[in-house]
Amino acid sequence: MAKRAVITGVTGQDGAYLSQLLLSKGYEVTGVVRRSSNYGLATERLRWLGIEGDVRLVDGDLLDLGGVSRIIRDVRPDEVYNLAAQSFVKTSWDQPVLTSQVTGVGVTNILEAVRLEAPEARFYQASSSEMYGLIQEERQSELTPFYPRSPYAVAKLMGHWMTVNYRESFGMFACSGILFNHESPLRGLEFVTRKVTDAVAGIALKQQSELKLGNTQAKRDWGHAKDYVQAMWMMLQHETADDYVVATGRTVSVADMIKVAFAHVGLDPEQYVKTDPEFFRPAEVDVLLGNPDKAKKVLGWEPAITMEEMICEMVDADLERRRRN
Ligand code: NDP
Ligand code: GDP
Repeated sequence: MAKRAVITGVTGQDGAYLSQLLLSKGYEVTGVVRRSSNYGLATERLRWLGIEGDVRLVDGDLLDLGGVSRIIRDVRPDEVYNLAAQSFVKTSWDQPVLTSQVTGVGVTNILEAVRLEAPEARFYQASSSEMYGLIQEERQSELTPFYPRSPYAVAKLMGHWMTVNYRESFGMFACSGILFNHESPLRGLEFVTRKVTDAVAGIALKQQSELKLGNTQAKRDWGHAKDYVQAMWMMLQHETADDYVVATGRTVSVADMIKVAFAHVGLDPEQYVKTDPEFFRPAEVDVLLGNPDKAKKVLGWEPAITMEEMICEMVDADLERRRRN
């Protein structure tokens, strides 16, 4: 019998790549989609990967415990991947209550639904390196203390501990993946990598003349979403439930990432990149650098795609999109 998986956040970057991975392994995939008047737009990423028709889509919102419980009861999944969140750090200062509800309390809703309706199902929670915030150790591992620096990170911390608590309290197979930044051609345009690759494509095609950014000194440990969804799946196949850092173990500044993107089309960023105070944050996470030793040792997970390969792939995809449009 095919395994059944439920994915919340299926319309997002990771939801699309995870669906693709699970379908390739023969899973029946049910994706939870927020109802929208623009349904066609919501499933754009699944369409981009050519799998829109292969994922069973059901309406649901993480804030609606009754609806989420019904989905879990109807599907009786073997695995549940909770990827839904208000995921953009900067927005979390403008919408702190909503972010707390969706990114924090929403995790409790889905954990409750699984506990009550499918307690044997394996559960994955999308935790974040943003929880380390003001870093307490140079390389952040599962043992590094957290110090969140945004409402998003505070909410993620709640979801993380709730996942640990449901594992310890109810014996649920609940894993928390502490994923460092991961990107792809399907990344939202508001995140810095995609903002840069889309602008580079626009500048190369003479559709745009400049790129306005905030703090380019910040450093991130960037990997590819395709590699990272593999780690999510591996966590749920392991014999015991646990928490894992998923990262490349290399950190790069925004400024250096920009150079890679511009160099790919033979342009000099100095001529185009401008600083704009609008894109600075009330509190910054200056540097993140993950230590993925545990995921490597216990799960046998390794990232395959370098930051440079990923950024070039993203620039090429944005060039193609802009030419098409
Ligand atoms: P995206 O922003 O691309 O996707 C977020 C998804 O959550 C979308 O499908 C969105 O739906 C959905 N969503 C938002 N609010 C609700 C709600 N109330 N009910 C149901 N669904 C909702 O994020 P990513 O794919 O990049 O990330 C996946 C998860 O991993 C997120 O939880 C994110 O916070 C976390 N994460 C991501 C990292 C990264 O670098 N990408 C790093 C660490 C953690 P809609 O399309 O309707 O908006
Ligand atoms: P985050 O790590 O989840 O916040 O991912 P982002 O891609 O949104 O931001 C990564 C880093 O890039 C942060 O330190 C931002 O402050 C920095 N940054 C600099 N300029 C920008 C910008 O214009 N947009 C975004 N999103 N981030 C920027």
